[in-house]
Formats: sequence, structure tokens, C-alpha cells
Amino acid sequence: MQERLTGFKCKRCGRVTYPKHERCLSCRGTEFEEVGLGDECTLLTYTKLYALPEGIEMPPLTLGVVDFGGGVRALGQIISDDPKIGMKLRPVWGKLRKIGEEEMYGFKFEPAEKG
Ligand SMILES: [Zn+2]
Repeated sequence: MQERLTGFKCKRCGRVTYPKHERCLSCRGTEFEEVGLGDECTLLTYTKLYALPEGIEMPPLTLGVVDFGGGVRALGQIISDDPKIGMKLRPVWGKLRKIGEEEMYGFKFEPAEKG
């Protein structure tokens, strides 16, 4: 399945967020337009979660904030055993977790260059 990572740009102030928030984090605006985020991003920061909500497989989970340039940032799962700040990542579409019988899909980020 091929999907494009889409951010949500606030129509009032232009701030782009992913995933979508009910209200803009900057101006509390509620109207957004979808924008493509591109294929490469840089890892800004990450955290490893060891206590996972029920239904999420493969612990520990690494959550990171990536930067697509121009201040466009996204939060997602980092697929790397050894994440490093500043490493290049690319978004990949895949299964995020399973809740009951329902499988949730979304974007994760894996190293742009293997090895
Ligand atoms: Zn805004």
C-alpha cells in the first residue's frame, strides 16, 4: 500500500501539524488544509516508551519528532534500534498497532539509508 504522508496546515497562521489536532497549537484555529510533507525528514528528538498502552505490539516503542524543513514537524514511531538526533529518516506506511480485532495503520519513520 502506498500512501503519502499528509500534514494539516492551519488556514489562519500556517502552522503545519501531524497528526491532526482539533485546534491549531499556535492560534487555536480550527480550519486546516492538507499538505504533503515530503519523503525525507530529520530526527529532532526521541523518547523510548517502555510502558505501552494495551494493544501496541513490539515494545519498547521509540517515539520521535521529525522535521521536514521549514518548521514542519511530525510525531511518529521511529523504526531504529539506535536512533540518533539529526539522522535522516523517511516515512513508511505500515501497521501501528492492533486494538482488539482492528488493525491501525499509519506512518512510521525508518532510516533513509540502511547500514
Ligand atoms: Zn494556527
